Amino acid sequence: MFLFKKSADLRHFLDLRKKQGQTVGFVPTMGALHQGHTSLVRQAAVATDVSVCSIFVNPTQFNEATDLAKYPRTPEKDITLLLEAGCTVLFLPEVPEVYPDGQQSTLNIDFGQLDQPMEGAHRPGHFKGMAQVVKRLLDIVQPDQLFMGQKDYQQFAIVRHMISVLQLPVKLVMSTTVREPDGLAMSSRNLRLTPEQRTIAPLIFQTLSSAKESLLAESPQEISAAAMKALSVPGMVPEYFEIVDGTTLQTIHNMDEHELVVACTAVKMGEVRLIDNLVMKNL
Ligand code: AMP
Repeated sequence: MFLFKKSADLRHFLDLRKKQGQTVGFVPTMGALHQGHTSLVRQAAVATDVSVCSIFVNPTQFNEATDLAKYPRTPEKDITLLLEAGCTVLFLPEVPEVYPDGQQSTLNIDFGQLDQPMEGAHRPGHFKGMAQVVKRLLDIVQPDQLFMGQKDYQQFAIVRHMISVLQLPVKLVMSTTVREPDGLAMSSRNLRLTPEQRTIAPLIFQTLSSAKESLLAESPQEISAAAMKALSVPGMVPEYFEIVDGTTLQTIHNMDEHELVVACTAVKMGEVRLIDNLVMKNL
């Protein structure tokens, strides 16, 4: 595996590969890697000639300074996992390398309603920072294919919108959520859960699964209300449980009027915030 810390060095390497007719697949991450990340890398390695994984804890997408400071960092384990996954290139830039002109964003994209609900409502500025870093990394890596996880459903929808609006020449590929055996979606943030919190955390996926089972019998509003109640156990505080149109991300009222329906939720366990989602209906 090749390791680059400087954009110019990475570009030089990728330009040579592109001249040889090779395609590039890109997986942006914030590190503390797990099997969810490596499934994206494996997919990139199968679909393209050169798989590039970036590890960059992007300061501009954190709305809470403590969340940024406490974001887990496990560089040695990350390298081992990437080697196992067959990653060609690890890009490990420092902040000035990604933002040579400062962290103020010049990216001005209207996301319509996509960035308003759910994560947008609970994490002000998060999606602006996320879009800024994805655009910047795409400018550096210039991949043929970009691989992102369904785990961050709203993020995926916003990146898809950005690629479409800016007409970026990249194919966006969604990868399904990788879960622990007990259903908990793999997340770097799981590392911050106490053993007690970890035993309760599978309730998130259980609640999403129960919601799916109630689809035919109850309205989306009834299902959401029941789910919020189910998630309100000692040690867990649900922020939202929304049943949304999978394309517009707007809350739905009648399941029959939508072809793609997704339930999205966020909970807080102590200081740790976890998100997950499940497709309820996909015609
Ligand atoms: P992060 O490092 O959390 O910013 O995530 C980097 C990429 O990995 C994003 O595209 C995420 O959606 C994806 N990802 C994170 N967790 C999972 C998971 N459990 N399964 C599949 N993809 C994931």
